[in-house]
Amino acid sequence: MNSPVQKIKERLSIEEVVSSYIKLEKAGSNLKARCPFHNEKTPSFFISPDRGTYYCFGCGASGDIFTFVEEFEGLDFKGALKMLADRAGIPLERYNKKEESEKEKLYRVMEESAEYYSLNLLQNEGVLNYLKTRGLNEKSIKDFTIGFAKLDWRELYFHLQKKGFSDGEIEKAGLIKRVEKTVPTGGQGFYDRFRGRIMFPISDSSGRIIAFSGRIFTDDGKSAKYINSPETPIFSKNAVLYGIDKAKDSIRKNNFSILVEGQMDLILSHQAGYKNTVATSGTALSDSTISKENAVSNLGLIRRLSPNIVLAFDGDVAGENASARAGRIALSLGMDVKVVDLPKGVDPADLISRMSADAWREAIRNSKHIIEFLLDKVLENSPNDARQAGREVKKRILPFVNAIESSIEKMYFIKKISEIAAIPQNALQDDLKKIEQELKYENEEIKEAKEALNTVYRKDYIERKLLGIILWQKTLKEQNIDVEKILKELADILTIPSLELLEKTKDKEEDLIFEAEVFYGEDADITKDIEEMLSNLKEEYLKEELEHKMRELYNAEDAKDSQKSSQILKECQILNSRIQDIRNGRFPPKAD
Ligand SMILES: [Zn+2]
Repeated sequence: MNSPVQKIKERLSIEEVVSSYIKLEKAGSNLKARCPFHNEKTPSFFISPDRGTYYCFGCGASGDIFTFVEEFEGLDFKGALKMLADRAGIPLERYNKKEESEKEKLYRVMEESAEYYSLNLLQNEGVLNYLKTRGLNEKSIKDFTIGFAKLDWRELYFHLQKKGFSDGEIEKAGLIKRVEKTVPTGGQGFYDRFRGRIMFPISDSSGRIIAFSGRIFTDDGKSAKYINSPETPIFSKNAVLYGIDKAKDSIRKNNFSILVEGQMDLILSHQAGYKNTVATSGTALSDSTISKENAVSNLGLIRRLSPNIVLAFDGDVAGENASARAGRIALSLGMDVKVVDLPKGVDPADLISRMSADAWREAIRNSKHIIEFLLDKVLENSPNDARQAGREVKKRILPFVNAIESSIEKMYFIKKISEIAAIPQNALQDDLKKIEQELKYENEEIKEAKEALNTVYRKDYIERKLLGIILWQKTLKEQNIDVEKILKELADILTIPSLELLEKTKDKEEDLIFEAEVFYGEDADITKDIEEMLSNLKEEYLKEELEHKMRELYNAEDAKDSQKSSQILKECQILNSRIQDIRNGRFPPKAD
């Protein structure tokens, strides 16, 4: 019996899938491309159509169409399975409710709630009219499944109960809260989290609803304007861009993205024809409490789709700060960053609904590179004062020049600033050097966030898959691999005892078994895959150790401790040759 994964692989070739994301070139019997998972100028990302796999000699990314979609889109296995099955036209059986995993139940509860809210909206003319006065048309309301939560304590809760969901499931999905004494809910037990709010479902990049954002409708002057779902097993607040599921194809096709702040901005921008718009929903990128890693991961997904980004935040101080933060990280990821100059106090939604779609088009067309944009602001604020302008340029502009990856581009902007602000180039160069020194720590931090993200993700992925195979095989009467031996090898790489490893994965066991089972089906030959994964995982860990050692080496060199540095250097060489051994054992890329 063929598993769904095998069926999908029969219909979709790796070339077909990967080339819908990035451009491929011929390289002998293989294909190559510039790697989407790390920044590079010359291609080291190879595809083997015969094997249906890819491997990057630059960063070690490797796998098949499923890993590619997972890593590219930032999805879990089931998300990738859903997308590829849709694309291959292979219906996935709806797994029966008894065997449904916790996550699947949560997805279903969210879907049911979205439907409920959306029906509610259609019956509430007042709310519908309000949305229309804000400029939304019926199609947008439907496409984005906008809904309404009535100002009532238990409407949704009772509805979901009737549909057969348990209190635990509904609470875990973040839709209800337990009654506390201070909340006058007129009852015991639970009450709806979202009340009297316009509801925007938030989806992941495969289109599954993972959270809600509720905008207040009846303003009592006390409640927050927006509330979002709490963290749940299917929603991490930091990891999501609103609208990414609807925007990704258009970003790829148009080769640029537009980043706005709010849901209304996003929906109106899509309505005005810019489907390549995504929103931060007031969280992720613009909020300074969000870590660099999260900002890097969100922008990283957009960058894989296209390196060109246009930021369109509100025309106020908060908006400018948000642009600055997101912009600097985007520059450091090697992106080309432009900014839309909006009038003070106007956001994209205002512009589109009060003026027109044309005004929005004009604004995007007139967007400027972030450095020119900031330079204009500085010069506006300090006219006729060259010294003041000089100080401001150093403080507010040069950190952005410093963030740019390419040194050629850096030079270009130094020249440009020099011309526009009438500051000699060598003075700017001197200041830039100082800033490089001052921001060394911050640059390192972003660099580490980028690297950590890639390796953590890849390590997690391989670990998950190997564990899945082990746990799945354990459930079978007849195993086609030596389960204990592989478990031991895996545990050795992770440097923890086998038993502890199994204990750690108890709560995700069901999901892991499911993944391995659909992936390989009953009579699959998995020995080769396992070997490959073990060696890839070993490589990831060795690379990490090497990086760590290299840092120690620099420190020892800084401290002029020659004995220590030669010792560390030896260790580095050993690690490096072990990594090379693993790499040499892999299929060689036949460069033409
Ligand atoms: Zn790579």
